[in-house]
This record gives sequence, structure tokens and C-alpha cells, in this order.
Amino acid sequence: MSSPWLSHFTAQSAAERVMWRCDTLAEISEDSDQLTRVYLSPQHLRANTCVGEWMREAGMQVWQDAVGNICGRYEGNLPDVPAVVLGSHLDTVRNAGRYDGMLGVLASIEVVRFLHQQQIRLPVALEIVGFGDEEGTRFGITLLGSRGLTGTWPESWLSCQDAQGISVSQALTQAGLCPEGIGRAARTPQSIAAYLEMHIEQGPCLEHDDAALGVVTAINGARRLNCVFQGTAGHAGTVPMTQRQDALAAAAQWMVAVEQLTQEQGAGLVATIGTLQCAPGAANVIPGEVRLTLDVRGPEEQALTTLLANLLSHGEQIVQARGCRFAAEEYYRIAPTRCDDGLQRLLREAVTQVQGRAPALPSGAGHDAIAIAERWPVGMLFVRCKGGISHHPDESITTADVGQALRAWLAVVLNFGENSDLRVGV
Ligand SMILES: [Zn+2]
Repeated sequence: MSSPWLSHFTAQSAAERVMWRCDTLAEISEDSDQLTRVYLSPQHLRANTCVGEWMREAGMQVWQDAVGNICGRYEGNLPDVPAVVLGSHLDTVRNAGRYDGMLGVLASIEVVRFLHQQQIRLPVALEIVGFGDEEGTRFGITLLGSRGLTGTWPESWLSCQDAQGISVSQALTQAGLCPEGIGRAARTPQSIAAYLEMHIEQGPCLEHDDAALGVVTAINGARRLNCVFQGTAGHAGTVPMTQRQDALAAAAQWMVAVEQLTQEQGAGLVATIGTLQCAPGAANVIPGEVRLTLDVRGPEEQALTTLLANLLSHGEQIVQARGCRFAAEEYYRIAPTRCDDGLQRLLREAVTQVQGRAPALPSGAGHDAIAIAERWPVGMLFVRCKGGISHHPDESITTADVGQALRAWLAVVLNFGENSDLRVGV
């Protein structure tokens, strides 16, 4: 389906405005020579003011919610209809790029701006949320903004402290918010119909596929394990090669197997051994013990379980053949977040409309949509970024790609009214 309104949309000038606004927000930083903007800092509040002003100018009613998210609402064609929330985050990592998070918020403002200019009202309200914390840079806990909307802040979060010993509770007060009032940011299930997030890919797949846009199928789940290989330490000169239980040789064999077996299983799975300690750790001693971490991620829970079982049994076979021992213990697990099928279809149609095809891909990084998906259906659109680089000042996107993204974003929003099978709340 193709809305006649799309032809009235001047994507080029809207994309230029998005790029310019990304540059403007990049100036709001705690450091003069790099971009760092953390939750509840004076810079965060300044960014909120700035974005709130742009929302207002686009025809939205604007407020800052009880956890410090900046929110705007554009009413539908009837009062109090549920909202489709278009969101992303305005906080950054240290020494960040200028598009991770901000792109999704600023692009959404352009869509509302156009609807307002054309005096188009939809059967749903549109809300834009600039989440205050997604990255977790300041307090080491993540998704504080989106968990404000779902109302799932654990009690313990208020006492978490930043590097200066300032608690979340104190920071809320310093920002003019009320720690006792954070529950007011929570939204009723009925008030929101769906959540859509546009974000840079943060990986190289779209660039490799020569596509500006892609539709996200799921946000990868992850498991992390501490693993240990135990052999027998011994003299590097005196123990013959046939009589060794070399823990590092066993670990090395397993590392190669991890890489190979993960590739063989496919299904978007990735596995990484990112740390390794070898003991006793001397040039003239056979390694007796190797400790390492295994990180596996993928878009489907069952595939993760199967891969992990396969990797661990392979580790067991390797140590049996070498007379060593192997143990692994999981210390972190997050389930994959599936994007809603109906929203994926809407996004696919919109992306196909502007790009001719709609590549599908999982997200390897976490997003606000993880928290929101606990309450409402979520969908995500990825925009190609140069070299897949993010969380770095070299993060880069093109104005042309943003123009494509804006056209797709507008098409999704315009098509919303024509789809009656979307769930409203859950
Ligand atoms: Zn992000």
C-alpha cells in the first residue's frame, strides 16, 4: 500500500534538519572535546529542553515525565486514543557518537512535524519519548528511562550510586524530580498500542548488504559463562609431549571448536571468548589452569540452548582425550526479545516501498525496546552506519540514508490506521 501523502514529504530537507540537530545535541556534553551525556546530569536536562522545544515546534504537547524522559504527544482523530510510541534514548556512553539513540528521537519529530503541517490526524495518537537512560553509563544499571514507562524499577535502583557516590535518589532530587514519585512515569497497558524505534545498526550487516535500511527480527539474547580448564602444571623442559595435561592446549582446541560449531549452527548465533587467564603463567611452565569467559548470543532461545549444550559437550570430549578437566558456570542470562510479527510486517512493507527490498536482521546490541516489549508490542528499524562503528566518535551515517529512513518511518506511521489487526496493549 502506498499513501498519497508520501509524495508530499520533502525527505532531503527533513534529513538535513535531523543531521543538524544531531550535531546540535552533540555539543551538549560534560566534556568540551568529546560527547558524554549521562542520566540526570545538567547536560541531560539541557538536551531535554532542546528536544522538547523541537517537539513543541512540530505540533506536540510536551512534558518531562517522573523519571526524566522527555515526552511529546500528537493527538489522534479522537480524544484519548491509544498512542503509538516512537522512541529512543538521549543519553550516551563516554566519548560517544552522535547518532546512537538521538537519531530515533529526532527522526520521529520530523514525521510528526509533517503530519502537523499537512493537518493529518490518525486513528492513533503519536507519542515521542526521548529516554533519559538506556546506556547505563552513570549508575551501571541500564534502561532506567524505558523501565519508567513500564513501571518496573526495582526498589534497589534508588540507592545505586555513581562514581562520585551520588545515588539515583539524590540525582533525581538534584534534577528537580521526586524519588518518591517515579511511579507516575508508568503508563497503563491500554494507553499504548505499540512501540517503534529507529536506531543505527551498530554492526556491519546492512553496509555489507548494500542497503540503507533493515527490519529487526529480534534483539539477541545472551548467556555468559565462566569456564575453567584444569590440567597439570609441569616443567617445560622435562615433561615429554606425550605425558602432558596442558590446560592451555585444551582451551585453545576448544576455542577453535567454539568458533567452528557456532558458524555451523548459523541462525544468527555468535560466540566470543573475550578473556583468558593462564596459570601459573610462566614461559617455562606447562599451563595447569586456564580460566576464560564464553559469551554466546542469538535471536532465539532454543537455538542458544542447543548451541551452548553442543559447545559444553565438545569441551568435555576435548578434556577427556587430554586427561584434563573442564567446568563451566553461567553467571549472566538475558532472554531474546522478539519483535512483534505485525509490526515487522508493517516495517517490511514500508521499507520495501522506499528501498525496493527489506533485509531482516537481529540486533546484536541492547535497546530500550527490550524493556518496552515486556508490556507492549515492539518493532525496530535499523539504519546503516559506516563500518558498523558505534559508541565511538567515528560513528557516521549519511544524510541520504536518513532521508530513506524518514520516508520509511512516515510510511509506517501513515499505514498504521489501515491495519486493524494490531494488538492494543497486552
Ligand atoms: Zn542506542
